[in-house]
Amino acid sequence: MTQVNHLFSEIRAAISDGSAPFIETPDGATLTYDGLVERSAAYANALVALGVTPGDRVAVQVEKSADALMLYLGTVRAGGVFLPLNTAYTPAEVEYFVGDAKPAVVVCDPARRDAIAPIAEKTGARLETLDGAGKGSLSAAADASATSFEDVARGADDLAAILYTSGTTGRSKGAMLSHENLASNARVLMREWRFTSDDVLLHALPIFHTHGLFVATNVTLLAGGSLLFLPKFDLDEILRLMPRATTMMGVPTFYARLLGSDAFTRELASHMRLFVSGSAPLSAEVHKAFSARTGHAILERYGMTETNMNTSNPYDGDRRPSTVGFPLPGVDLRIADPETGKALPQGEVGVIEVKGANVFKGYWQMPEKTASEFRADGFFITGDMGRIDERGYVSIVGRSKDLIISGGFNVYPAEVEAVIDEIEGVAESAVIGVPHADFGEGVVAVVAPHKGAKIDADAVITPLADKLAKFKQPKKVYVLDELPRNTMGKIQKNVLRDQFKDTFA
Ligand code: AMP
Repeated sequence: MTQVNHLFSEIRAAISDGSAPFIETPDGATLTYDGLVERSAAYANALVALGVTPGDRVAVQVEKSADALMLYLGTVRAGGVFLPLNTAYTPAEVEYFVGDAKPAVVVCDPARRDAIAPIAEKTGARLETLDGAGKGSLSAAADASATSFEDVARGADDLAAILYTSGTTGRSKGAMLSHENLASNARVLMREWRFTSDDVLLHALPIFHTHGLFVATNVTLLAGGSLLFLPKFDLDEILRLMPRATTMMGVPTFYARLLGSDAFTRELASHMRLFVSGSAPLSAEVHKAFSARTGHAILERYGMTETNMNTSNPYDGDRRPSTVGFPLPGVDLRIADPETGKALPQGEVGVIEVKGANVFKGYWQMPEKTASEFRADGFFITGDMGRIDERGYVSIVGRSKDLIISGGFNVYPAEVEAVIDEIEGVAESAVIGVPHADFGEGVVAVVAPHKGAKIDADAVITPLADKLAKFKQPKKVYVLDELPRNTMGKIQKNVLRDQFKDTFA
């Protein structure tokens, strides 16, 4: 096999039947593998015509559609670097990413064109549009473009994508992912999870995040399977389509919601062979209730934007609740002392560190930050705390940096606190995650007013509406005279988490 374009050549080589469907949308429209090759070629041609050259970023904040996936593949074929952005980000947030990544092209929803235009203009990026129905200026350009394209040569180490993961210090970091980072992980997962061309994957995840964009999509592509592609998680649609699917990948919330419906029965799940969960901890309770209801043990895996997938429960064998299984083939994983990086004896809790072809190239234009997140021997420090049991199963016990995961999305307290602290009358704030039945964790803000100032919950929530994506906004605000501190003067978030743990109970 000639590896012209490392990732796409592998995807193309895996196609054995061009007339087989790759994507089916709820309206019944299908895109075959031949159609994929043609449509992604049209996007690649359109991007090249816009001036995209190898290594250029293509920043994309669009609703989920088959064309949005073709834009991902078209970018890769054109030698570009795909940079998807959460659709919940406000224009003010988009401005940061565009300013940092300096993309050659920005693609947004037509409804946002006016808000994004000045941002694109400032950095000299071309602005194009694409909506949830696959319509817009860019798809029109693709319609008018040739459907064959000579893939731009890209090697294993060249970048295929940059995905931003916010930092606890406030500044978002762009994780640089190479062609081989993505290809190697898809290859391994396809084998581990036994994906074949018979698979039909129920796809309800967003495609601006590693889970829906890379895990679900690339695994299906390499297997020659197909996607039942839903714009979002819609319980009725999932129940309607499940009898035609064989697999599903979801965040824990999906599975909790399915269990909440009486229509979700063993019979309904009888055509399925595999349910995969990840991006946030799956509770043992949901795992067990799901097994009891359907006879399926959900397969939980663990990964992150920077590393792709690191561990997985076994396909054959015991899928243990509250664990994320074993390191994947090709992934070296150790539990280390967070301070020294020294490997800890089996059974002890420490920071999870990983090394392998799956691990990213570093943070975009942040060489020092990158260097500080890697050990001298090449292991990446994930920031997740975990342990390995006597049978080799890895479990995650917490996040070292107080990251909140709400509905599968990461919320970095420092970022929300910075915005709250600017509100008049606020002296300081602490943003924490507390258990929430639907979202896993719900965002809570605890605020202390300046002496003599009076603030209430509304005064905190209202000004956040146009500053932060909805999922980052606190669902509940408490006002305290002062925040609890330890002897070192640090706010004790653990105390607050305990005090307010029943907020959503
Ligand atoms: P992201 O980069 O958005 O994919 O978030 C990655 C983080 O999600 C990891 O560092 C973990 O803290 C968390 N995570 C992912 N999968 C799991 C899992 N199965 N159990 C617990 N936490 C998880």
